[in-house]
Amino acid sequence: MNTNSIVAGIAAVQSAVLASEADIESLDRAIGDGDHFVNVRRGCEALAALAPQLVGLAFAPACQQIGTKLLSTVGGASGPLFASFFLAMGKELDGADEPDGRHFARAFAAGVEAIRSRGKADVGEKTMLDVLIPVARLLVRLTEAGADIDTLTAKVKEEARGGMLATKDMMATKGRAQYLGERALGHIDPGAKTCEVAIVAICDLALASR
Ligand code: ADP
Ligand code: MG
Repeated sequence: MNTNSIVAGIAAVQSAVLASEADIESLDRAIGDGDHFVNVRRGCEALAALAPQLVGLAFAPACQQIGTKLLSTVGGASGPLFASFFLAMGKELDGADEPDGRHFARAFAAGVEAIRSRGKADVGEKTMLDVLIPVARLLVRLTEAGADIDTLTAKVKEEARGGMLATKDMMATKGRAQYLGERALGHIDPGAKTCEVAIVAICDLALASR
């Protein structure tokens, strides 16, 4: 794993997000203020433009640059949350030129922990964390156990999908949707959908480039 995989990851996430425009867009229109897709697309475009500068960098400074770029370009609640994910991930990867799967999993978990602490939210509050927290735990467990890439990606995708779908029947206690009370029931959380789309894209990329 090296920075070229980050650049490829950005492109994969960007195209997956664009392909899910209709889904993501309609979810934030239903239980948010309708800007989530635009926020995420702007973030992807900013990172795609940054990509040439990331080539050849070690993981930590690359993540640091990604986080800083997201912080300055993406608004809404989600921009600073995604930014804090990459900044914390960069810290955890400091000094590792080519982190292995276990180290990457620990860094992913540190990034998710940063979102949790910045957003003051947890599992069950109908946010992106309903996808990210269970996926982070699973990723750490599977990489510690030495799971092969087929098993790992299949299980991670399943976990992301399960977490995303579970938000449908939750009442929101964080983010804009909390003000809707029971009217938020029956709608998937837009941030959870975006994270699922991104995680599936990264898993598919990992499978294609092994
Ligand atoms: P805004 O809510 O400011 O319009 P976005 O539409 O870009 O921002 O992002 C909304 C998403 O952000 C939600 O769907 C949810 O997943 C996530 N979110 C909102 N608040 C929090 C929080 N406190 N912790 C974690 N995630 C959150
Ligand atoms: Mg919004």
